[in-house]
Amino acid sequence: MKNGPSKEVRRAFKRFKHNKPMHFTKSFIEQMKQIERLPFSQAERTVMNIIGTLQLNMEEIRSSPPSSEKAMAFHEYVSKAIQRGKGDRPASCRKGCAHCCHLLVDITKSEALLLADAARALSPEKKQRLKEQASWPNDPMFFVHQFPKSRCVFLADDNSCSIYERRPMACRAHFVISDPVHCDTEKSPGNTIQTVAYMDAEGFISAAYEADSAAALSKQLLPFIEDANG
Ligand code: SF4
Repeated sequence: MKNGPSKEVRRAFKRFKHNKPMHFTKSFIEQMKQIERLPFSQAERTVMNIIGTLQLNMEEIRSSPPSSEKAMAFHEYVSKAIQRGKGDRPASCRKGCAHCCHLLVDITKSEALLLADAARALSPEKKQRLKEQASWPNDPMFFVHQFPKSRCVFLADDNSCSIYERRPMACRAHFVISDPVHCDTEKSPGNTIQTVAYMDAEGFISAAYEADSAAALSKQLLPFIEDANG
């Protein structure tokens, strides 16, 4: 049997990406690669469905300006999509194991508005850390600087998330199915960490990233702490 999407679908998808450069999540891209292994007709249908859903979600998201309310609606959608997707693949993440809170987190404009007051309320030391993180050009810098400079400014001393109810979509959708001990790359670099992604959630997050302008959490929140400093 022929595998992978047809040339036409591949072209349509490339054109879609080219005309509207997308801010896909890494997990979404990984999942898209998996589609190439599906039987031909299933792959074609899947790709077309994904493009259609992305477009609809982006149109809906673009129909109103960024707002805190919009961010809460994103969070509700993503949390439900994750619950639907979890099925029999439960995550092994545990409260208090916060190694993933040292990675780059992207947030949208609406999510930044939702977190603006929490950013203004940060301690001077955490504001300084946020400023430093905002000065790093990109994702790899988080691995270069590593702990403790890459620690999320919202991670409390007991390793709980201080903004848990408002935590970004990226945090909601990040799960591992390997032993959480392996996530401690500070103590054991080179461990194999197995993540799990839920396609519906990742597709929605990708659409929101594109339509509601995502960037690194530190860069999105920097203007709010600079305002607060006068
Ligand atoms: S916002 Fe919360 S869950 Fe997300 S990285 Fe920061 S501390 Fe961790």
